[in-house]
Amino acid sequence: MVYEIEVPSKSHTQFIDITFKIREIVNKSGIVNGICCVYVPHTTAGVTINENADPDVVDDMIMELNKVVPFEDRYKHMEGNSAAHIKASLMGLSKNIIINEGQLMLGTWQGIYFTEFDGPRHRKVYIKIIKG
Ligand code: ZN
Repeated sequence: MVYEIEVPSKSHTQFIDITFKIREIVNKSGIVNGICCVYVPHTTAGVTINENADPDVVDDMIMELNKVVPFEDRYKHMEGNSAAHIKASLMGLSKNIIINEGQLMLGTWQGIYFTEFDGPRHRKVYIKIIKG
């Protein structure tokens, strides 16, 4: 079984904390020990795990990503969103999180972020939970 969550982004570049939604799905699955695979089926958005205590961390990550991959450059892709494609690949499109005794084994300060780079759009995330 594959679970799916809807993630509506509200701005062009946005990190959306989806930790709570993933926890809900893990609880709903009834799987107590295993792996939770979070997969983003898009080419201009990704997923990352990082600090969710201080929102300044996300702002700093976005600021630096925009320096490393500027919006305007001599990109060839006619759609004009090459920066978003590159940032999505830098973040990656999936993350695996261990489930132990019913809990995601995230660190105290870790959260799971859907990373939008070409919003606002209506996005989705697939979640597969494997018992083991
Ligand atoms: Zn494109």
